Amino acid sequence: MNDSEHDAFRVLTINAGSSSVKFGVFDTVAHTQLFQAEIERAAHVEDAIDRIPGMLKAKGVAALDAIGHRVVHGGTRFRDACVIDPVVLQGIEECVPLAPLHNPPALAGIKVASAAWPGVPQVAVFDTAFHQTIPPRASTYAVPEAWRETGLQRYGFHGTSHKYVMLRVAEELRSPAAELRIVSCHLGNGASVCAIERGVSVDTSMGMTPLEGLVMGTRSGDVDPGVFSYLQRSLGLSVADIEDALYHDSGLAALSGAGHDMRDIEKRAADGDPKAQLAIQVYAYRARKYIGAYAAAMGGVDVVAFTGGIGENSATMRGRICSGLSFLGLDLDDGRNAGVRLSGSAAPQIQRDHSRVRVVVTKTREQWMIAQEAARVLAHGDPGFATIGPALEAVRAPSPPDVNAPIPVAVSAHHVHLTQAAVEQLFGPGHRLTIRNGLTQPGFWAAEETVDVIGPRSTVERVRVLGPCRARNQIEITETEAYQLGIDVAVRLSGDTVGTPVVTLRGPRGSIETDGLIVAKRHIHMRTDDAQARGLQHGDEVEVAIDSAGRDLVFRDVVIRTDPDFVTEMHIDTDEANAAHLDRGGAGELVSVAGCSARLTGTQTPASRMEKSCCLD
Ligand code: ADP
Repeated sequence: MNDSEHDAFRVLTINAGSSSVKFGVFDTVAHTQLFQAEIERAAHVEDAIDRIPGMLKAKGVAALDAIGHRVVHGGTRFRDACVIDPVVLQGIEECVPLAPLHNPPALAGIKVASAAWPGVPQVAVFDTAFHQTIPPRASTYAVPEAWRETGLQRYGFHGTSHKYVMLRVAEELRSPAAELRIVSCHLGNGASVCAIERGVSVDTSMGMTPLEGLVMGTRSGDVDPGVFSYLQRSLGLSVADIEDALYHDSGLAALSGAGHDMRDIEKRAADGDPKAQLAIQVYAYRARKYIGAYAAAMGGVDVVAFTGGIGENSATMRGRICSGLSFLGLDLDDGRNAGVRLSGSAAPQIQRDHSRVRVVVTKTREQWMIAQEAARVLAHGDPGFATIGPALEAVRAPSPPDVNAPIPVAVSAHHVHLTQAAVEQLFGPGHRLTIRNGLTQPGFWAAEETVDVIGPRSTVERVRVLGPCRARNQIEITETEAYQLGIDVAVRLSGDTVGTPVVTLRGPRGSIETDGLIVAKRHIHMRTDDAQARGLQHGDEVEVAIDSAGRDLVFRDVVIRTDPDFVTEMHIDTDEANAAHLDRGGAGELVSVAGCSARLTGTQTPASRMEKSCCLD
C-alpha cells in the first residue's frame, strides 16, 4: 500500500504485444481508472516500457502497489493468475514454444518493469488460465499420442475478456454466475466464443493457437487441416507460407477483398458488393453455429453476451448472428438491439420480453480485469502452480435476501470426496483431479474422475468424485445402495465420519480401503444473510413440506447449514427424491411454520439442473 493514500490500491497493467504496449493505471479499491494509454509501433518493447515511468509521473501517479502483466500463454501449468517469482518467470519462459510471438514481449515487459519498480509485486495474468477448466473431451485433439505429448491440445485465449463478461453479466442480471450458462462472444479483430457453465469455461472456439474457431479480421478460423497438403501440391506453398496467410491474409480481409474493418464491409454490403455480403454471411453463420454448439455442450443457454469492437458496435451483425435462434428460446428485440449505447460499464439487455435467453451487450475491459486479478491474487495469496481451477470467489454477485424467494431443491446423486493422497492412490502418482463442471455452491465442482465403491455384496460403479480435495475421504450413498452393497450405513452430517464403515474404492490405478461411508443427512445450504432474514441459524433443524402432485410429504430433521458464500439450496438424495416424486428436483416457496420450519412447494425443473447440481456434501 502506498503511503500517501491508505484507501487506494494502484495497479499498473501492462499488455506488451508484438507491435504495441497498452498500459493503464487502476485503483482497485476505489474502482476507478486513473488512465489508459497505448504506445504504438515501438521498435523494441523494452523501449516502449522504458517510457512508462515518465508518462506516469506526468499524470501525477507517484506510487504503485502492484503491476499486472498480460501473458498470453500459460500452458497447462498456470491455472490462475500468480505472483511473479523466478520459478514463475521460468514457467512463462517454458511456455514460449506455445506462443513464440506473444510470450517474449510479455517476458521483456516483466523484466523491464521489475527493474523500473523494484519491490513492487508483479502478477502474471494469463489469457489461457480461465480456460483451464475445459474438460479433456473438449480440449483434446484426436491426433497421435506422440503429438499430444508435446503439449498439442486446445488451450483457448481471450480468457480475461470472457471472465470479465461473465462477471459483468452476472452483476447485471443480479444472478450468481454459478447459476448461469453463458455463451460469451468476443468479436474484435481477434474473435472467440466461450461456453461458460456455472462460472467456469467449458469450451472455447480458439484452440492450440488463436487461429481456430470464428472468422476474424485477417485470420481464417476453422479450416480443414487437409488444406496444407492440398495447397502445397496445387500452389507449391510451404507450411510457413500457408500459416502466414491463415493468420494475416484470411478472414474478413480475404473474403471482402477490401480490408478487415467491419464498418467498411457493412457499408459495401449495403451498397450491393457481393464479396462484402458473403463476408458478412460467413462471419455471422460461423458465430451462430458456435452458439448452437455451445448451447448443446451446456445442455442449454441462459445468456448470450456480445463484446469486442464488432460485438459492441454492430447491431446488424448481432441481429444476423441471433437470427434463427428462436428454437433455443432466443428472441432479439430489434429496437433494443439498434438502440444499444455503451457508455461506462453499461450492459444493456436486448432480448424481447418473452425471450427465455437473455442477450447482453457490454464493452470488454481486459486491462481493468488484469488489475482486478492482480489485486485478488495479492489479497488472497498466490495460488501459483498446481492449484486446480480458478478462484471462484469472484463469480457471485449476491442479490439481497428475499424471505419469500423460492428455495431450490436439488437431488444429489451418490458421490465421493477424496483426499489428495487417495486421489494419487486411485488415479496414479501426482494425479490431480480434472474439473468437469462447477456446482451450485461456489468453489465446488464435479470432477471427470469416477470410482467404483465395492461392498461385500455388490459394487456401485462410476461414482463421481467432487472437488476440491478434502482432509478426509467421504462417500455418500443412499440407503438403497447401502443395502445393495451389504453394509449398514448411518445417516450422518457431512464431515462427521468418525466410526463410519470401511469400504473399498477402486480407481483405474489402484484401490484403497477407507472409512467415511455415510448416508447424508438432508440439509439446506443457506447464505448467512438469507438464513438471518428467515430467522434461522446454522445448525437449526427445520421441517420441509414438499407438494409434489400426488406424493406430498414432510421432511423432518432438515439441517440448516450457513455460510456467507453459499447459494441457498436444499439437498436431498435420490431415495428421498423418489419418495417425494421429485425426480428432477424442485423449487418452492418457503413458509415459516412454528418458529423455524420451512415449507417448500415442489415444481419440476429441467433434468440438466439436477445432473449439474449434485450436492457438495
Ligand atoms: P482488437 O481485437 O484489436 O482489440 P477491437 O475489439 O477494437 O479489436 O475490434 C475492432 C473491430 O471492431 C474493427 O476491426 C471493426 O471492424 C469493428 N468495429 C468497430 N466499430 C464498429 C462499428 N461501429 N460497426 C461495426 N464494426 C465496428
